[in-house]
Amino acid sequence: MTKCAASMERVRNPLPAILDKHQRPLRDLRISVTDRCNFRCVYCMPKEVFGAKFHFLPKKELLTFDELQRTVRIFGQLGVSKVRITGGEPLMRQDLDVLIRQLSEVEAIQDMAMTTNGYFLTPEKATALKNAGLKRITVSLDALTDNIFKTVNDVGVPVSRILSAVDAALTAGLKPVKVNMVVKRDVNDQQVIPMARHFRHTGVTLRFIEYMDVGNTNGWRLEDVVQASEILSTLQEEWDLEPVAPSHPGEVARRFRYRDGGGEIGIIASVTQPFCRHCSRIRMSPEGQIYTCLFGSEGFDLRQLLRDENVDDQHIIETLTALWTERRDQYSLLRTQMTPSQPKVEMSHIGG
Ligand code: SAM
Ligand code: SF4
Ligand code: SF4
Repeated sequence: MTKCAASMERVRNPLPAILDKHQRPLRDLRISVTDRCNFRCVYCMPKEVFGAKFHFLPKKELLTFDELQRTVRIFGQLGVSKVRITGGEPLMRQDLDVLIRQLSEVEAIQDMAMTTNGYFLTPEKATALKNAGLKRITVSLDALTDNIFKTVNDVGVPVSRILSAVDAALTAGLKPVKVNMVVKRDVNDQQVIPMARHFRHTGVTLRFIEYMDVGNTNGWRLEDVVQASEILSTLQEEWDLEPVAPSHPGEVARRFRYRDGGGEIGIIASVTQPFCRHCSRIRMSPEGQIYTCLFGSEGFDLRQLLRDENVDDQHIIETLTALWTERRDQYSLLRTQMTPSQPKVEMSHIGG
């Protein structure tokens, strides 16, 4: 068989999933396509750190679309079938729909999703993304009241702009549409009920996320975390909810259904109920650093291999296999035993 035919054969019949030291398969790849963002969410890119003098990556540092497609093809051969595009704000990357089209050409990828703040998600953009092969979208929105939302995004963006983005996603058929709400004590915790009420009966799944200690810049304190149990009991005071079985092993959100048919919500309890035991995700930063954990401090430089003309795909496959099979990460499970000062990559750099 020629080299090309062999690799085609492998794409049709992906290799069995590779397992890490805790027997977790590699299935999901999250690609951060830019470290830039037009928001300065207080829990992610506080203005004091990400101000006018902050040095974002110059364009030449970013992986090109062809490099990203090659990377996804390689990961497909390692068992990855799901890709999520994130950032920074992914829609700040020029011609993102062209990238989505290129990535959706990779046979092994069955599911392609994106997480966005929604600011640039016009109806035209949503349709272009859908036509390019994007299947699902998650829009982040932390409040329904302008003054609270503006306090969170810290750049004065009104709620209406993001609600229009959610509508655009629904109309374009990027389903299921999910909305992510990070709940921070005394910032937006009073918005849990209004947000739930707003998205009931809309087909949108609202997901409440515990505020996490990602990166080193958001000044995270355990007191600011509104625990999943508290979010759930707040909701249960208002509505009758029943648990829904996970749709796949390792699903990060605990799902609940309104008994009156109002739809579903999810709660992502990354802090109080860590899901490291089933974590099948690998992450890549915009400049091609690979992280086997959201809380990693050092990435593996894949770009260097991608840009070395003496390195072929087989070598990269072997290198990434070695990286995953040596993986032991379980940061959230072990969080309490860690030194708080341990340096970590920023969320806005590798995405959520
Ligand atoms: N800019 C896009 C957005 O906001 O949707 C994509 C990147 S953002 C880093 C991905 C997700 O991470 C968002 O839903 C955001 O709310 C969430 N996030 C950011 N910082 C967080 C934190 N400290 N704790 C929990 N979630 C966080
Ligand atoms: Fe930007 Fe998303 Fe971070 Fe907010 S959460 S600052 S929108 S990257
Ligand atoms: Fe996965 Fe790391 Fe998060 Fe645990 S802490 S679920 S290993 S990304």
